[in-house]
Amino acid sequence: MSEHTGDQRLPIEGVRAYLHCPRRFQFAHIDDLDPDERVQDDRLGLLRRALCEALRHGSSLAARARSSLAKDWTEQQLGLHSTAQRAHERRRLEAVVGAYVEAVGGAHAEALSATRAGGVKGELVGPDLPLEATFESVTITAPVDYAFRSGSTLTGVRFLASPATLGSLRYDDEWDGQVARRFTEHTDQDSDQTHPEFVGHLLETAAVLEGLRALRDHLELESVRTCRYVVIPLLDRSATTVDWMSETVETTVEPVDLTDRYIDHHTFARTHEHRNRAVDRYLRAIVADAVDGPYDPRTSPSTDWAHIEAEACPECPFAICCGDRLESEVGIDD
Ligand code: SF4
Repeated sequence: MSEHTGDQRLPIEGVRAYLHCPRRFQFAHIDDLDPDERVQDDRLGLLRRALCEALRHGSSLAARARSSLAKDWTEQQLGLHSTAQRAHERRRLEAVVGAYVEAVGGAHAEALSATRAGGVKGELVGPDLPLEATFESVTITAPVDYAFRSGSTLTGVRFLASPATLGSLRYDDEWDGQVARRFTEHTDQDSDQTHPEFVGHLLETAAVLEGLRALRDHLELESVRTCRYVVIPLLDRSATTVDWMSETVETTVEPVDLTDRYIDHHTFARTHEHRNRAVDRYLRAIVADAVDGPYDPRTSPSTDWAHIEAEACPECPFAICCGDRLESEVGIDD
Protein backbone atom coordinates (compact mmCIF):
# COMPACT_ATOMS: atom_id res chain seq x y z
CA MET A 1 0.00 0.00 0.00
CA SER A 2 1.72 3.22 -1.01
CA GLU A 3 -0.81 5.67 -2.41
CA HIS A 4 -3.99 6.89 -0.74
CA THR A 5 -6.39 6.18 -3.57
CA GLY A 6 -9.65 6.60 -1.69
CA ASP A 7 -10.51 2.91 -2.28
CA GLN A 8 -8.48 1.66 0.66
CA ARG A 9 -10.28 0.23 3.64
CA LEU A 10 -8.89 -0.26 7.09
CA PRO A 11 -10.72 -1.84 10.02
CA ILE A 12 -10.45 0.08 13.28
CA GLU A 13 -8.92 -3.07 14.84
CA GLY A 14 -6.09 -2.53 12.36
CA VAL A 15 -5.53 0.99 13.65
CA ARG A 16 -5.49 -0.36 17.19
CA ALA A 17 -3.09 -3.15 16.25
CA TYR A 18 -0.78 -0.56 14.68
CA LEU A 19 -0.68 1.37 17.96
CA HIS A 20 0.79 -1.73 19.62
CA CYS A 21 3.22 -2.61 16.85
CA PRO A 22 3.37 -1.97 13.07
CA ARG A 23 4.48 -5.57 12.44
CA ARG A 24 1.42 -6.85 14.28
CA PHE A 25 -0.69 -4.71 11.97
CA GLN A 26 1.14 -6.09 8.93
CA PHE A 27 0.64 -9.72 10.02
CA ALA A 28 -3.07 -9.31 10.79
CA HIS A 29 -4.24 -6.84 8.16
CA ILE A 30 -1.88 -7.07 5.21
CA ASP A 31 -0.63 -10.65 5.32
CA ASP A 32 -3.98 -11.87 6.70
CA LEU A 33 -2.36 -14.23 9.17
CA ASP A 34 -4.82 -15.68 11.63
CA PRO A 35 -3.64 -15.99 15.22
CA ASP A 36 -5.22 -18.48 17.56
CA GLU A 37 -8.75 -17.53 18.56
CA ARG A 38 -9.04 -16.69 22.21
CA VAL A 39 -11.63 -18.30 24.41
CA GLN A 40 -12.70 -14.91 25.72
CA ASP A 41 -13.60 -13.85 22.17
CA ASP A 42 -15.92 -16.83 21.76
CA ARG A 43 -17.81 -15.88 24.90
CA LEU A 44 -18.17 -12.31 23.75
CA GLY A 45 -19.34 -13.47 20.31
CA LEU A 46 -21.95 -15.72 21.90
CA LEU A 47 -23.30 -12.88 24.05
CA ARG A 48 -23.14 -10.39 21.19
CA ARG A 49 -25.21 -12.63 18.90
CA ALA A 50 -27.75 -13.43 21.62
CA LEU A 51 -28.26 -9.81 22.71
CA CYS A 52 -28.48 -8.48 19.15
CA GLU A 53 -30.97 -11.19 18.21
CA ALA A 54 -33.14 -10.18 21.20
CA LEU A 55 -32.80 -6.45 20.45
CA ARG A 56 -33.85 -7.06 16.84
CA HIS A 57 -37.18 -8.45 18.08
CA GLY A 58 -37.57 -5.79 20.73
CA SER A 59 -39.77 -7.50 23.32
CA SER A 60 -39.06 -10.06 26.08
CA LEU A 61 -35.41 -9.11 25.82
CA ALA A 62 -33.93 -11.32 28.55
CA ALA A 63 -35.97 -14.41 27.61
CA ARG A 64 -35.11 -14.07 23.92
CA ALA A 65 -31.42 -13.53 24.65
CA ARG A 66 -31.28 -16.58 26.93
CA SER A 67 -33.08 -18.69 24.38
CA SER A 68 -30.69 -17.57 21.66
CA LEU A 69 -27.77 -18.32 23.98
CA ALA A 70 -29.12 -21.84 24.56
CA LYS A 71 -29.49 -22.45 20.81
CA ASP A 72 -25.96 -21.30 20.03
CA TRP A 73 -24.48 -22.91 23.13
CA THR A 74 -24.40 -26.50 21.91
CA GLU A 75 -22.03 -25.48 19.12
CA GLN A 76 -19.74 -23.65 21.51
CA GLN A 77 -17.16 -25.55 23.51
CA LEU A 78 -15.38 -22.45 24.87
CA GLY A 79 -12.45 -24.65 25.79
CA LEU A 80 -14.40 -26.08 28.75
CA HIS A 81 -13.85 -29.74 29.45
CA SER A 82 -16.13 -30.75 32.29
CA THR A 83 -19.91 -30.66 32.62
CA ALA A 84 -19.57 -28.60 35.81
CA GLN A 85 -17.41 -26.02 34.03
CA ARG A 86 -19.87 -25.74 31.18
CA ALA A 87 -22.83 -25.38 33.55
CA HIS A 88 -21.01 -22.67 35.50
CA GLU A 89 -20.10 -20.76 32.36
CA ARG A 90 -23.67 -20.98 31.11
CA ARG A 91 -24.93 -19.52 34.41
CA ARG A 92 -22.34 -16.78 34.17
CA LEU A 93 -23.39 -15.75 30.66
CA GLU A 94 -27.06 -15.86 31.61
CA ALA A 95 -26.27 -13.61 34.58
CA VAL A 96 -24.62 -11.16 32.17
CA VAL A 97 -27.78 -11.11 30.05
CA GLY A 98 -29.88 -10.26 33.13
CA ALA A 99 -27.45 -7.57 34.26
CA TYR A 100 -27.33 -5.98 30.79
CA VAL A 101 -31.13 -5.89 30.50
CA GLU A 102 -31.42 -4.32 33.94
CA ALA A 103 -28.65 -1.76 33.43
CA VAL A 104 -29.54 -0.41 29.99
CA GLY A 105 -30.91 -3.15 27.75
CA GLY A 106 -34.57 -2.51 28.52
CA ALA A 107 -34.25 1.22 27.94
CA HIS A 108 -32.20 0.71 24.78
CA ALA A 109 -34.77 -1.76 23.38
CA GLU A 110 -37.51 0.83 23.96
CA ALA A 111 -35.44 3.54 22.27
CA LEU A 112 -34.81 1.20 19.33
CA SER A 113 -38.55 0.52 18.97
CA ALA A 114 -39.26 4.26 19.08
CA THR A 115 -36.56 4.90 16.48
CA ARG A 116 -38.09 2.32 14.14
CA ALA A 117 -41.59 3.65 14.81
CA GLY A 118 -40.31 7.06 13.70
CA GLY A 119 -40.07 5.65 10.18
CA VAL A 120 -36.33 4.87 9.96
CA LYS A 121 -35.63 2.72 6.94
CA GLY A 122 -32.43 0.78 7.42
CA GLU A 123 -30.83 -1.71 9.76
CA LEU A 124 -30.05 -0.51 13.28
CA VAL A 125 -28.98 -3.76 14.93
CA GLY A 126 -25.90 -5.93 14.24
CA PRO A 127 -23.88 -7.75 15.42
CA ASP A 128 -21.28 -5.65 13.66
CA LEU A 129 -23.57 -3.02 12.20
CA PRO A 130 -21.13 -1.49 9.70
CA LEU A 131 -20.13 2.16 10.08
CA GLU A 132 -17.63 3.86 7.82
CA ALA A 133 -15.55 6.99 8.27
CA THR A 134 -13.07 8.53 5.85
CA PHE A 135 -9.73 9.81 7.15
CA GLU A 136 -6.78 10.59 4.86
CA SER A 137 -8.82 9.25 1.91
CA VAL A 138 -8.90 5.87 3.64
CA THR A 139 -12.21 4.35 4.68
CA ILE A 140 -12.07 3.15 8.26
CA THR A 141 -14.65 0.54 9.18
CA ALA A 142 -15.72 0.81 12.81
CA PRO A 143 -18.75 -1.38 13.55
CA VAL A 144 -21.15 -0.96 16.44
CA ASP A 145 -23.63 -3.57 17.67
CA TYR A 146 -26.68 -1.33 17.51
CA ALA A 147 -27.72 2.29 17.19
CA PHE A 148 -30.80 4.19 18.32
CA ARG A 149 -32.14 7.72 18.36
CA SER A 150 -33.16 9.45 21.55
CA GLY A 151 -34.32 13.04 21.14
CA SER A 152 -31.79 14.80 18.95
CA THR A 153 -29.02 12.24 19.62
CA LEU A 154 -28.01 9.14 17.68
CA THR A 155 -26.16 6.68 19.95
CA GLY A 156 -24.00 3.78 18.79
CA VAL A 157 -23.34 0.91 21.21
CA ARG A 158 -20.55 -1.68 21.10
CA PHE A 159 -20.20 -4.71 23.38
CA LEU A 160 -16.69 -5.31 24.73
CA ALA A 161 -15.17 -8.21 26.60
CA SER A 162 -13.29 -6.86 29.58
CA PRO A 163 -13.27 -3.22 30.74
CA ALA A 164 -9.52 -3.57 31.44
CA THR A 165 -8.49 -2.02 28.11
CA LEU A 166 -10.38 1.17 28.94
CA GLY A 167 -7.98 2.00 31.77
CA SER A 168 -8.82 5.33 33.36
CA LEU A 169 -11.44 6.02 30.67
CA ARG A 170 -13.78 4.09 32.94
CA TYR A 171 -13.53 6.70 35.66
CA ASP A 172 -12.38 9.99 34.14
CA ASP A 173 -15.52 11.30 32.56
CA GLU A 174 -14.20 14.23 30.52
CA TRP A 175 -11.34 15.02 28.17
CA ASP A 176 -9.90 17.90 30.18
CA GLY A 177 -7.44 16.69 32.80
CA GLN A 178 -6.22 13.13 33.07
CA VAL A 179 -7.54 11.89 29.70
CA ALA A 180 -5.86 14.71 27.77
CA ARG A 181 -2.65 14.22 29.78
CA ARG A 182 -2.46 10.49 29.04
CA PHE A 183 -3.17 11.06 25.38
CA THR A 184 -0.40 13.68 25.15
CA GLU A 185 1.96 11.36 27.02
CA HIS A 186 1.37 8.64 24.43
CA THR A 187 1.76 10.89 21.39
CA ASP A 188 4.76 12.85 22.68
CA GLN A 189 7.89 11.43 21.02
CA ASP A 190 9.99 12.48 24.03
CA SER A 191 7.80 10.70 26.56
CA ASP A 192 8.74 7.25 27.81
CA GLN A 193 5.09 6.30 28.37
CA THR A 194 2.79 4.61 25.85
CA HIS A 195 -0.89 3.74 26.26
CA PRO A 196 -1.95 1.90 23.10
CA GLU A 197 -5.23 0.43 24.43
CA PHE A 198 -6.32 3.70 26.03
CA VAL A 199 -5.49 5.74 22.91
CA GLY A 200 -7.03 3.01 20.72
CA HIS A 201 -10.40 3.57 22.41
CA LEU A 202 -10.16 7.32 21.73
CA LEU A 203 -9.30 6.75 18.05
CA GLU A 204 -12.13 4.25 17.78
CA THR A 205 -14.50 6.84 19.29
CA ALA A 206 -13.42 9.36 16.64
CA ALA A 207 -14.09 6.84 13.85
CA VAL A 208 -17.43 5.63 15.28
CA LEU A 209 -18.76 9.18 15.79
CA GLU A 210 -17.81 10.05 12.20
CA GLY A 211 -19.49 6.81 11.06
CA LEU A 212 -22.63 7.65 13.05
CA ARG A 213 -22.81 11.10 11.41
CA ALA A 214 -22.63 9.35 8.02
CA LEU A 215 -25.37 6.91 9.13
CA ARG A 216 -27.50 9.84 10.30
CA ASP A 217 -27.19 11.46 6.87
CA HIS A 218 -27.82 8.16 5.08
CA LEU A 219 -30.97 7.49 7.11
CA GLU A 220 -32.07 11.13 6.70
CA LEU A 221 -32.45 11.60 10.44
CA GLU A 222 -32.76 15.35 10.14
CA SER A 223 -33.65 15.93 13.78
CA VAL A 224 -30.39 14.33 14.97
CA ARG A 225 -27.88 16.99 16.01
CA THR A 226 -25.24 15.02 17.91
CA CYS A 227 -23.91 11.47 18.07
CA ARG A 228 -22.63 9.49 21.03
CA TYR A 229 -20.62 6.29 21.45
CA VAL A 230 -21.20 3.90 24.36
CA VAL A 231 -19.24 0.72 25.07
CA ILE A 232 -20.59 -2.03 27.32
CA PRO A 233 -18.06 -4.45 28.86
CA LEU A 234 -19.81 -7.80 29.37
CA LEU A 235 -17.12 -10.05 30.82
CA ASP A 236 -15.89 -8.17 33.87
CA ARG A 237 -14.74 -10.84 36.30
CA SER A 238 -14.24 -8.27 39.04
CA ALA A 239 -17.98 -7.48 38.92
CA THR A 240 -18.99 -11.14 39.24
CA THR A 241 -19.82 -12.98 42.46
CA VAL A 242 -20.14 -16.76 42.51
CA ASP A 243 -21.88 -18.74 45.24
CA TRP A 244 -20.62 -22.28 44.73
CA MET A 245 -22.96 -23.73 47.36
CA SER A 246 -26.16 -22.49 45.75
CA GLU A 247 -24.63 -22.56 42.26
CA THR A 248 -25.63 -18.99 41.53
CA VAL A 249 -23.78 -16.20 39.77
CA GLU A 250 -24.42 -12.50 40.18
CA THR A 251 -22.87 -9.79 38.09
CA THR A 252 -23.28 -6.18 37.09
CA VAL A 253 -22.83 -4.41 33.79
CA GLU A 254 -21.56 -0.84 33.64
CA PRO A 255 -21.78 0.96 30.28
CA VAL A 256 -19.18 3.65 29.56
CA ASP A 257 -20.11 6.60 27.35
CA LEU A 258 -16.83 7.49 25.66
CA THR A 259 -18.17 10.66 24.02
CA ASP A 260 -17.33 13.15 26.77
CA ARG A 261 -13.96 11.52 27.36
CA TYR A 262 -13.20 12.17 23.70
CA ILE A 263 -14.65 15.59 22.80
CA ASP A 264 -12.70 18.74 23.51
CA HIS A 265 -14.91 21.72 24.15
CA HIS A 266 -12.83 24.08 22.07
CA THR A 267 -13.44 22.00 18.92
CA PHE A 268 -17.08 21.41 19.91
CA ALA A 269 -17.64 25.17 20.25
CA ARG A 270 -16.23 25.73 16.77
CA THR A 271 -17.87 22.83 14.92
CA HIS A 272 -20.99 22.09 17.04
CA GLU A 273 -20.10 18.45 16.51
CA HIS A 274 -18.60 15.94 18.89
CA ARG A 275 -14.99 16.09 17.71
CA ASN A 276 -11.50 16.40 19.13
CA ARG A 277 -8.90 18.07 16.94
CA ALA A 278 -5.86 16.44 18.56
CA VAL A 279 -7.32 12.92 18.49
CA ASP A 280 -8.57 13.28 14.91
CA ARG A 281 -5.17 14.56 13.78
CA TYR A 282 -3.39 11.64 15.43
CA LEU A 283 -5.86 9.20 13.83
CA ARG A 284 -5.01 10.66 10.42
CA ALA A 285 -1.30 10.24 11.10
CA ILE A 286 -1.70 6.62 12.21
CA VAL A 287 -3.87 5.82 9.20
CA ALA A 288 -1.28 7.33 6.85
CA ASP A 289 1.53 5.31 8.51
CA ALA A 290 -0.55 2.13 8.52
CA VAL A 291 -1.32 2.22 4.81
CA ASP A 292 2.18 3.31 3.78
CA GLY A 293 4.46 1.24 6.00
CA PRO A 294 7.25 0.33 6.46
CA TYR A 295 6.31 -2.01 9.27
CA ASP A 296 9.68 -2.72 10.83
CA PRO A 297 9.13 -2.12 14.56
CA ARG A 298 12.84 -1.80 15.21
CA THR A 299 13.60 0.94 12.72
CA SER A 300 10.32 2.74 12.07
CA PRO A 301 10.72 6.39 13.18
CA SER A 302 7.25 6.48 14.75
CA THR A 303 7.74 3.47 17.01
CA ASP A 304 9.72 2.73 20.13
CA TRP A 305 11.22 -0.77 19.93
CA ALA A 306 12.13 -0.92 23.60
CA HIS A 307 8.47 -0.39 24.52
CA ILE A 308 7.18 -2.82 21.93
CA GLU A 309 9.63 -5.49 23.05
CA ALA A 310 8.78 -5.01 26.72
CA GLU A 311 5.01 -4.50 26.51
CA ALA A 312 3.57 -5.64 23.17
CA CYS A 313 5.62 -8.75 22.37
CA PRO A 314 4.82 -10.75 25.55
CA GLU A 315 1.08 -10.73 24.86
CA CYS A 316 1.25 -10.74 21.05
CA PRO A 317 -0.72 -13.48 19.25
CA PHE A 318 1.96 -13.53 16.50
CA ALA A 319 4.96 -13.88 18.83
CA ILE A 320 5.57 -17.49 17.82
CA CYS A 321 6.09 -16.61 14.15
CA CYS A 322 7.58 -13.14 14.44
CA GLY A 323 11.13 -12.77 13.13
CA ASP A 324 11.63 -9.41 14.83
CA ARG A 325 11.00 -10.92 18.21
CA LEU A 326 12.98 -14.07 17.57
CA GLU A 327 15.97 -12.11 16.29
CA SER A 328 15.80 -9.86 19.28
CA GLU A 329 15.61 -12.82 21.68
CA VAL A 330 18.68 -14.48 20.26
CA GLY A 331 20.51 -11.17 19.99
CA ILE A 332 20.91 -10.94 16.22
CA ASP A 333 21.40 -7.33 15.16
CA ASP A 334 21.15 -6.07 11.60
S1 SF4 B 1 5.92 -10.32 18.48
FE1 SF4 B 1 6.43 -8.20 18.99
S2 SF4 B 1 7.46 -7.38 17.18
FE2 SF4 B 1 6.40 -9.25 16.56
S3 SF4 B 1 4.43 -8.56 15.79
FE3 SF4 B 1 4.14 -9.07 17.91
S4 SF4 B 1 4.43 -7.16 19.04
FE4 SF4 B 1 5.29 -6.88 17.00
